[in-house]
Amino acid sequence: MECKLCGSTKFRISRLRVGDLSALLFLEYPVRCRVCHKRELVNFFSAFRIRRADKRRHAEERRRKYREANPARQA
Ligand SMILES: [Zn+2]
Repeated sequence: MECKLCGSTKFRISRLRVGDLSALLFLEYPVRCRVCHKRELVNFFSAFRIRRADKRRHAEERRRKYREANPARQA
């Protein structure tokens, strides 16, 4: 899946708007390109994969911040 505008393959889940309801009926979900920030509708399956990747990235960031804040506990 690529951004139609810039060709990037990096997306994140976008916030839902009232206007997205019709898209949801067609099993589409709004995502946002991480590079050019264009909003696009993708099918639920793609959105689910993006959401999973988002969560994984957030968890890694949390772990990294925790390690930085608690260097003594690293060993
Ligand atoms: Zn883009």
